[in-house]
Amino acid sequence: MTRLSMHEQLPFDEDATASPISTGDLPQAEEVRAVVTEAYERYRSNGDGEVADYIPVLAQASPDWFGISVVGARGKSFEIGDVAVTFSIQSVSKPFVFALVCEALGYGEARRRLGVNSTGFPFDSLMAVELNTDRTMNPLVNAGALAATSLAPGATAQEKWELIRQGMSRFAGRELSVDEQVYASESATNLRNQGIAHLLESYGRLYFDPDEATDIYTRQCSLDVSVHDLAVMAATLANGGVNPVTGDVVVGRGVCRRVLAVMATAGLYELSGDWLYEVGMPGKSGVSGGIVTVAPGKGGLATFSPPLDPAGNSVRGQLATKYLAERLGLNLFASVAASRDRGTS
Ligand code: GLN
Repeated sequence: MTRLSMHEQLPFDEDATASPISTGDLPQAEEVRAVVTEAYERYRSNGDGEVADYIPVLAQASPDWFGISVVGARGKSFEIGDVAVTFSIQSVSKPFVFALVCEALGYGEARRRLGVNSTGFPFDSLMAVELNTDRTMNPLVNAGALAATSLAPGATAQEKWELIRQGMSRFAGRELSVDEQVYASESATNLRNQGIAHLLESYGRLYFDPDEATDIYTRQCSLDVSVHDLAVMAATLANGGVNPVTGDVVVGRGVCRRVLAVMATAGLYELSGDWLYEVGMPGKSGVSGGIVTVAPGKGGLATFSPPLDPAGNSVRGQLATKYLAERLGLNLFASVAASRDRGTS
């Protein structure tokens, strides 16, 4: 492979380089609170999208549920709406499991094993596996996510699962547990994911028993969270891998920025380009209606609202996040012309 040399980790200690943060702070607390409230009021009556039902129990979710949470890099939070409702994390688990795998294996090795490019296909695509000779393209769609889960450290399924559950809990700053009803419902219907896992095994791109890996992945997707938990998890990725509420160093900052890069590339599946074009930040969605978005150095945003667009991304969540990104000045690609008499460069 010609790309091999690019796959190496940096030969110097990037954690020793000065001031690696490219952006400033969130606006003042009052302004954040006001903008979060505006975003909620603006989109709460939007009736577009469909609640997922391919995992039967998810169909019981109310299409009216809508919550927004913002957690700053110093741990301050602002939230509104259905913040007390808990739901299964689903695909929003994927970047966090990838982060744990990068932490254990090194982000260079994780890239070699999983890939970091977008597929352009839906999240549960088998075609993406068949058409790309690398087989797993990135850890944020089901194929790469199953492979990432299979790479979690541990000799047994139980050890791998505990590592994932504990790692995710550290991102959230509290002990997370499985919603057994969701786990049972998805376990009874996840033949497609089992198929993907077996297909990957046939190509040597799954790193544990395919049925056990699918089971751990299904548990990981069934972890029960609130929109506040998701915002704390996102804020940890916004804060160099340190949970801003607990102070826990969950992953290194070198890992953190690679995870954000993959989220920018593939976090909203085949609509990731549209997302980046409009929001300008790494994000990750899930079929139960959660979206996390990361403003590096500033904070984490999370939205929860079950009705989804055809790609499986929350409709209200996307609208509210775009509004917040714009009004809070979070788009990473935005700049204004520098004054000529300021600074030296
Ligand atoms: N557990 C779900 C699945 O594998 C997660 C998918 C998602 O949230 N997009 O189908």
